[in-house]
Amino acid sequence: MKNNEPFDPYNAIFFKVHPELIDKDYHWCCLESVEGLQSGTLATFREAYIKLRGKYKGRRGYKGQSFKLFITDAQVYSVRINYQITTGKCVECLGSGKAMGRPLCFQCNGTGVAHPLSEP
Ligand SMILES: [Zn+2]
Repeated sequence: MKNNEPFDPYNAIFFKVHPELIDKDYHWCCLESVEGLQSGTLATFREAYIKLRGKYKGRRGYKGQSFKLFITDAQVYSVRINYQITTGKCVECLGSGKAMGRPLCFQCNGTGVAHPLSEP
């Protein structure tokens, strides 16, 4: 994961499980919700790149082998709460106070400050 990538819990967990790939730009490309004894997400990861030309220039593309990884809701909760403890920022808007399609982040009410998270 490149340092300029915004924090993403699924990507953060992937690089904990596959530290040998930390220098590569792997990114999730598909998330499937799974219900069961341990509810979570079946995530598919592939190496990502930014398209340099064509109609979708500047957008993310994927290449190479894919990896599937089952990520539990408890794991996602753990990395989200850890982000808030270490940065002091809201994990939803990453401290900006803004949200896509809304004037204010609905989790922190636009303050950008860390807040209690509901446990899985
Ligand atoms: Zn927020």
